[in-house]
Amino acid sequence: MVSAFEAVQGFYEQAAERLGLELSLREALATPNREVSVQVRVAMDGGGFKVFKGYRVQYNNARGPYKGGLRFHPLVNLDEIRCFSALMTWKTAIMNIPFGGGKGGVQVEPKRLSEGELERLSRSFMRAIAEIIGPTVDVPAPDVNTNPQIMGWMADEYARRYGPNPAVITGKPISVGGSLGRESATGRGALICLDHVVRARGWRREETPIAIEGYGNAGSWLAVLAAELGYPIVAVSDSKGAIVSAQGIHPQKVLAHKGETGSVIDFEGAETIKGEDLFGVDCRVFVPAALDASIDEDTANAIKAEIVLEEANYPVTTEADEILAARGVTVVPDILASGGGVAVSYLEWVQDLQREAWTEERVNGRLEELMEAATAEVLSRAAGQTMTLRQAAYIIGVERVAEAEIARGYR
Ligand code: GLU
Repeated sequence: MVSAFEAVQGFYEQAAERLGLELSLREALATPNREVSVQVRVAMDGGGFKVFKGYRVQYNNARGPYKGGLRFHPLVNLDEIRCFSALMTWKTAIMNIPFGGGKGGVQVEPKRLSEGELERLSRSFMRAIAEIIGPTVDVPAPDVNTNPQIMGWMADEYARRYGPNPAVITGKPISVGGSLGRESATGRGALICLDHVVRARGWRREETPIAIEGYGNAGSWLAVLAAELGYPIVAVSDSKGAIVSAQGIHPQKVLAHKGETGSVIDFEGAETIKGEDLFGVDCRVFVPAALDASIDEDTANAIKAEIVLEEANYPVTTEADEILAARGVTVVPDILASGGGVAVSYLEWVQDLQREAWTEERVNGRLEELMEAATAEVLSRAAGQTMTLRQAAYIIGVERVAEAEIARGYR
């Protein structure tokens, strides 16, 4: 099996080939500009300290400052972060926002840390990367297992050394320059994208059942907002298992249940099944909203949906992508479907730079414009040149970055 980075580079190479990019530029866009590995020291509650591995990869900044989240997860490694930094580069280009791409993370199981240890980890990691980030250089944000509170601690740690500047990081609490609508943005963006595709096919929302893998920020917001529009949510899962109900579950109630018990499983009014059985559930839309590579050769064949909406980053392996294509399943790629989060990060950054605070309606309205435009472009490019949506999205992303490189004089 190829690594995560090799897999997305395959998609990039295909696009570069189709675009006929000059060889030197093609090489320049094939690897990250900078990769930083850091040591993250954390004083533990019981005395002593532990050392964790941290990374920040800055892939490309031809279109603007590097942009992308920071994740805390035991499986974080340099190859995976490098893969995500490339995805962010194409994602910001497709969303047509003035940023490049980057990504970072710490190899840690945050659930094993106390609140105090988590704060010290966040601050220590920020100190370790502070000299390579900044409001016009590289702007981090939340990702898997990181949240507004963690962004707040990090912004404060940055301020202690360089002075306060809220535009250094996005996804912050509202009280310190965060934006209304940022928390729900990935889910809302994915829904706008899905709704566009569903409309284009002439499907009725009520007859478009959705199954969602992962019930974190991205998955749960998508469930809540999609149900409000009339889409039945027939199954959801988390790391402990899945729940399924052909009549549809109530996403808010599942969220409350998860808040009380720590998991979606054993929710009353739905059947609890094994996590791996979620992939074979009857639905029209399957949404991977958890970790990378969850749809592989095994799970791809089980999927009954007609559309796979990639709300997570790199959730479908290259082998699975081919299986799904051969089976006639439409995959809406991560670099489009998950672009809502970074789109509203951009709006937060704009507000911070101007010391403004927009209404939620204004933020959501701009998100809608950005996501509608990006989706329309990918669909029309795919239809015009008979490509998959992923191929079309990569063509648009790579073309825009290449154009910026050429305009700046990349040599
Ligand atoms: N972590 C999110 C992503 O993968 C958001 C990144 C950001 O807002 O910069 O798209």
